[in-house]
Amino acid sequence: MLADEADRGALLVTGGSRGIGAAISRLAAAHGYAVIVNFVSDERAAGALVEDIRSRGGRAAAVRADVARESDVLSLFEQVDRLFGPLSALVNNAGITGGFSRVDAVTAGMLERLWAVNVTGTILCAREAVRRLSLKHGGRGGAIVNVSSRAAELGSPGEWVHYAASKGAVNTFTIGLASEVAGEGIRVNAVAPGLIETDIHAAAGDPGRLSRLASRIPMGRAGTAEEVGEAVIWLLSCAASYVTGSILTVSGGR
Ligand code: NAP
Repeated sequence: MLADEADRGALLVTGGSRGIGAAISRLAAAHGYAVIVNFVSDERAAGALVEDIRSRGGRAAAVRADVARESDVLSLFEQVDRLFGPLSALVNNAGITGGFSRVDAVTAGMLERLWAVNVTGTILCAREAVRRLSLKHGGRGGAIVNVSSRAAELGSPGEWVHYAASKGAVNTFTIGLASEVAGEGIRVNAVAPGLIETDIHAAAGDPGRLSRLASRIPMGRAGTAEEVGEAVIWLLSCAASYVTGSILTVSGGR
């Protein structure tokens, strides 16, 4: 059952198949977006999510692409153009941690992949979105939301300073791009989640991370992917029409 049946156009959610991205995709479909669910490896999860959205009357399609590869990003946006009509919004959600490591043990290989996904991928996808959305390029305007992290401000010492630094770059990019395209009909914002219940912690090798760190969160618990998704949907919506260049913290006070 759709919560809101207005047609909001096509929304691309990178890394939209699992975790926070999947929650954003579900909520966006319920709000009337036709959702392109991007994934890189887990085709089954992406397919199941698309099926679930369709079974509730929403519109969705899954597209495989590694956002770290320019050729994949170009092909992803070509498919976006064909699937549901003109793009109206982008959520740059795909991200990886690079794994736990103190800085004195970090490797160039970890950094290359981390930067390629979290920073290069975010910027390349934003570039393609601006080329389609900007009034200057003949587009109709739109919105971009980047999924950053509270780590960008906290620095994540002893866990993943390298990851925190990549999200610092996402924050700076958000602020700069927002100013650059503010006169072209595009709003650009970010959300900065705190500790959120997804597979990313176990994938990094620490499944107990959330319960171990919960006592450090003023609200005393980790957040859900849906709680982040609600913030993203608001930033995409007309209700946030005067909001650009903002980094919205969703972290239970942490
Ligand atoms: P997750 O559960 O590990 O899901 C990651 C998603 O990104 C999956 O859909 C994955 O696709 C996709 N992905 C990974 N690398 C990709 C690539 N190169 N190209 C395209 N898609 C790719 O992660 P999450 O916890 O939901 O995190 C989502 C975002 O929130 C990330 O940017 C993360 O840094 C940020 N964040 C998370 C937390 C948290 O506590 N969970 C906190 C702050 C910020 P496959 O399924 O195909 O692998």
